[in-house]
Amino acid sequence: AHLDRMAAVDGAVHAFLHVNTDEALAAAADVDARRGAGEELPELAGVPIAVKDIVVTRGQVTTAASKILENWVPPYDATLVSRLRAAGMPILGKTNLDEFAMGSSTEHSAYGNTRNPWDLERIPGGSGGGSAAAVAAYEAPLAIGTDTGGSIRQPAAVTGTIGVKPTYGSVSRYGLIAMASSLDQAGPVTRTVLDAAMLHEVIGGHDPLDSTSLTDPATGYVAAARAADLKGLRVGIVTELGGEGYQEGVRRSFLESVELLKQAGAEVVEVSCPSFDYALAAYYLIMPAEASSNLAKFDGMRFGLRVEPAEGPVTAERVMAATRGAGFGDEVKRRIILGTHVLSAGYYDAYYGSAQKVRTLIQRDFAQAFAKADVLVSPTAPTTAFRFGEKLDDPMAMYLNDVATIPANLAGIPGISLPSGLSDDGLPVGFQVLAPAREDARLYRVGGVLE
Ligand code: GLN
Repeated sequence: AHLDRMAAVDGAVHAFLHVNTDEALAAAADVDARRGAGEELPELAGVPIAVKDIVVTRGQVTTAASKILENWVPPYDATLVSRLRAAGMPILGKTNLDEFAMGSSTEHSAYGNTRNPWDLERIPGGSGGGSAAAVAAYEAPLAIGTDTGGSIRQPAAVTGTIGVKPTYGSVSRYGLIAMASSLDQAGPVTRTVLDAAMLHEVIGGHDPLDSTSLTDPATGYVAAARAADLKGLRVGIVTELGGEGYQEGVRRSFLESVELLKQAGAEVVEVSCPSFDYALAAYYLIMPAEASSNLAKFDGMRFGLRVEPAEGPVTAERVMAATRGAGFGDEVKRRIILGTHVLSAGYYDAYYGSAQKVRTLIQRDFAQAFAKADVLVSPTAPTTAFRFGEKLDDPMAMYLNDVATIPANLAGIPGISLPSGLSDDGLPVGFQVLAPAREDARLYRVGGVLE
């Protein structure tokens, strides 16, 4: 049914870069056969899923939406993909994204825009616009995204879906094409909170193949999603997230959701996190620095594309330059240049060092806020989905979409974006809930009630 739906609507939505029809049908048939033979299977067995094309899948093309990886077929599965397969979940295909997950609109994909199913003239958010659009358009019931600065939560917000960025280290990063290793985290994109909790339990847990994987990650997400009770829960509204620069309809819808939490028994307080004003600046130093180092492996020799210089000697350095010149898009080049600059001798302390200090201040702000509140809330994004091209030529305007999502990545804490009704323009608004590290269950508790 989902493959039929994709055939009907994906021409317009373009959520998928690759569709695995045969493999998905074979996996589904296998589940049917095993179930028919009386085998006890995991709860989500047979439920199909879409996977962001920055997560490697053995034998299936994985491009990170970059020309440099066009037609690259990984020889192994990411740990989370192995877990999906072990749970009997057919993988429908790989979803579109901003190249190497750099962006907030999916307009930086080398393979064309994904359109927002709510309005095909508007962006589906980014970088994981493909996963969010696939779920919003009913092409897939579940999807996997990755969130370095908001790429699961912001697309969920602008497509009316649910997106979860788990605690850093609770879902293995093995087999994610790394963007910024100290910030990246994979997580669920779904249409219900319970679906997200179930999927989180499938993909989470310790993995010896990821050196930053938590050895004893928390669980209990499904139970929390079903708790249906907020009595005594202290909810903190973050003063710095939601004022100036946020669309009027977004603020109204946010306050309506806060009202619903109060009605469900939550106690609402206001908390201040003054260092958040520097979060965006710190992120756009740390993230390019780490990305420039991670992307050094795309040298025209080890993976994917290889372009030889048009003329002159064919040296390693010249092949690398020609390959990277042809294979990387403008946004990727911009960040590599920025990243190598801030890491260079003489600048390292001033930029990267200062940004790391800001990161510590943000962690302290969170610690103080969580002493007063069990969860923190804010709008997920300052605006609803904008039109194609509106922010494409202005990197700073594009970067501002992540002002409310980035602090969680810098601190490693979990966050969820929940649908919060519609703004005055008739487009979906996201409601963000943040919890202390390893307390992901609280997100599902609030989500289960707000839904
Ligand atoms: N939009 C942010 C960026 O461009 C976040 C990306 C992400 O979370 N992968 O870096």
